[in-house]
Amino acid sequence: MYTASYIIIYIMIFVFGVFIGSFLNVCIYRIPKEETIVKGSSHCMTCGEKIKKRDLIPVLSWCLLRGKCRNCGVEISPRYTVVELLNGILFLVAFLKYDFMFNPIMGVLVCLLYSALVVVFFMDWDTQLISTGVVMFIGILGLVQLLSNLLLKGPISDITWKSQLIGIFVVSIPLLLIHLLSKGRALGLGDVYLMAAGGFFLGVKSVLVAMFIGMIVGSVVGMILKYKTGNSKFAFGPYLSIGISIAALYGNQLADLYLRFSGFIR
Ligand SMILES: [Zn+2]
Repeated sequence: MYTASYIIIYIMIFVFGVFIGSFLNVCIYRIPKEETIVKGSSHCMTCGEKIKKRDLIPVLSWCLLRGKCRNCGVEISPRYTVVELLNGILFLVAFLKYDFMFNPIMGVLVCLLYSALVVVFFMDWDTQLISTGVVMFIGILGLVQLLSNLLLKGPISDITWKSQLIGIFVVSIPLLLIHLLSKGRALGLGDVYLMAAGGFFLGVKSVLVAMFIGMIVGSVVGMILKYKTGNSKFAFGPYLSIGISIAALYGNQLADLYLRFSGFIR
């Protein structure tokens, strides 16, 4: 009976995610240059022409212009559109897991976490830097979850405040040691902070899962990239972001699955 209205709401969530994705593009390009993200207009990267309002509709404008600047005709990177669509899909995924009727707070928190991770992913990929501001934003999301669980009548997640607090340190401290022992060559402080904030949001079990996934994906993709490009310059943040994203939805289940397979629990 509610199917039609559900579909309409999910379409709206997707479209909203796409528009937020458009803002994330601004963050990805401007934060490394220390430019403001709240005002200022978008310009063509090639000719510098200010992009008109009607050409700023996420995804649609890029399709209508066939991926080219209206002024100079030079190709606009499809990445802007990829980021927008990706964020729309991630919003959908978050709200499919956390129903907007029954657990809207957790749904919104995971959406915001995903948007922050999209920024971390692309910014670290481009610049090998993880923005402290974005990491702090993830920390705030963790705090909102902790306070909601403590203060609201029904808990919004099954992650206890103890688990959240231990989660800050369980991965970040070993990473910090690796950072110090390798004198910063193996991984940067940004990765350490990211896993501290991510651990605060995810709790102890899920952040271990996140790290595990990040290491596996990172080493596979890292090897392929090194083989293909001969370049060993490597950003860990994108893979940690993928790990955190998956763990935010299925961290506990994956941890239990692993423990069951290895015979720790039955
Ligand atoms: Zn142009």
